[in-house]
Amino acid sequence: MRYLPVFLDLQTGPVLLVGTGELARAKLRVLVAAGARIRWYAPSGAHDVQGLEPAQLARIDLAKGDPLAADLKGVVAVFCAGAGDVGIAMSARARSLGLPVNVMDDLAHSSFIFPAIVDRGDVVVAIGTGGASPVVARRVREKIEAVLPARIGDLAKFIGRFRKAIHGRIPEMALRRRFWERVIDGPIGALVLSGHRHEAEAALHKIDDPSAFAGALADGRPRGHVTLVGAGPGDPDLLTIKALRALQDADVVFHDELVSPDILDRIRRDAARVPVGRRVGKPGIGQEAINRLMIEAAQSGQRVVRLKGGDPFVFGRGGEEIEALRQAGVAYSVIPGITAAIGAAAQYEVPLTFRREALRITFLTAHKAEDAEAVDWSALTDTKMTVVVYMGMTAASSVRSGLLAAGRAPQTPVGVFARVTRPDAQGLIGTLDELPALVERIDGGPAILIIGDVVAHAAAGRHLNPEQTIEKLLEAAQ
Ligand code: SAH
Repeated sequence: MRYLPVFLDLQTGPVLLVGTGELARAKLRVLVAAGARIRWYAPSGAHDVQGLEPAQLARIDLAKGDPLAADLKGVVAVFCAGAGDVGIAMSARARSLGLPVNVMDDLAHSSFIFPAIVDRGDVVVAIGTGGASPVVARRVREKIEAVLPARIGDLAKFIGRFRKAIHGRIPEMALRRRFWERVIDGPIGALVLSGHRHEAEAALHKIDDPSAFAGALADGRPRGHVTLVGAGPGDPDLLTIKALRALQDADVVFHDELVSPDILDRIRRDAARVPVGRRVGKPGIGQEAINRLMIEAAQSGQRVVRLKGGDPFVFGRGGEEIEALRQAGVAYSVIPGITAAIGAAAQYEVPLTFRREALRITFLTAHKAEDAEAVDWSALTDTKMTVVVYMGMTAASSVRSGLLAAGRAPQTPVGVFARVTRPDAQGLIGTLDELPALVERIDGGPAILIIGDVVAHAAAGRHLNPEQTIEKLLEAAQ
């Protein structure tokens, strides 16, 4: 992050604007919306006020003379838009006085830059791209505009009015946060967002015991809860909306090593993060210790997220964890995730089922050669069955010999898909006979094996070559 987003109070003193034309007028409108008093210098000498409303003009002083000689005492910030070379000289002057200055479309002469803005009254969203691409910022803004309720600013204002009163009645911060979350997510929030502020206010006054409403036990402690969350295979955009909400609400997150850093970035900033997972060759703290940590955290009133790669109930030990939670009497819920097989299938275009060709799917695990020997391969002879092997890298030769011994053809298509949905994903396609050699060529896990005729439908060469270059992709796109 090169630029720190901050919200500047422009009502503490005048701001200076230097420039002419539509660019300057657009800046004037934003500055007026922020409640600023603006001293406007038009280097050409002509203040073209066309299209500005009288109320806007009332906040603008049409300054005469040379802006480079202007008195900058008490000025909060300097803005140049459509100012030509004067902008550059103005920037040098502002900087020499330690004043924040922005010259439109000129990073080199700006000490701060302008974000794209979503303005909903008390709720303002600023979007920056470090000056790299205003078009990208605008696209992001459109997306945010589309998901933010129109009256979200009213909701913030509504809560602002009652914050002090509730603060007095719920001194404990975590509990207070829950109180407001329940208000926002419940009927009161819905009333405000649909424009029924008075009804919302009446409903808020009807809450006799705000602590109990916030989910406190009789002794005033907040009620803890564990959420098992499936993080999916790696791409953070594949998190469900519920998963994202759980990550944003968590007090503490116990996560697997497998969970990608891009996903850990989505956790609420103030939440504690505790890695607890195992990794090939590295022992973790053990399942019992994980269970104990989760239970203790929940019993102390925290909102706990147990974040697991893929789906919690697919080779994820989610079943054991909820058993321990049940025994301890801890409240919990489960949010599914996209399991590695589904992620690989979508990315590499391997339909796991196919009419007449693949009518069944088996997910199995073969962590070590011993595991692979324990698999009853004779149950997997059906050629109309797609076989997906989790944790199968080290046991690849045993998987091959097991399936061949069970009568699967050596020519059966197989795919090895590593780090799927991540930026460094890699996929290789070959035959069952070649499986160990394919696995050798993978540059590190985690990887999943998909075996069966459907693999022949994989988008040949589209995402498969690690050596696939941007140039080749662009060529293909043209
Ligand atoms: N619960 C997880 C599986 C955990 S077992 C899920 O539903 O996906 C760990 C195994 O999952 C790895 O050895 C690998 O076979 C597979 N796996 C997990 N993430 C993967 C990824 N991004 N790409 C390929 N395989 C992955």
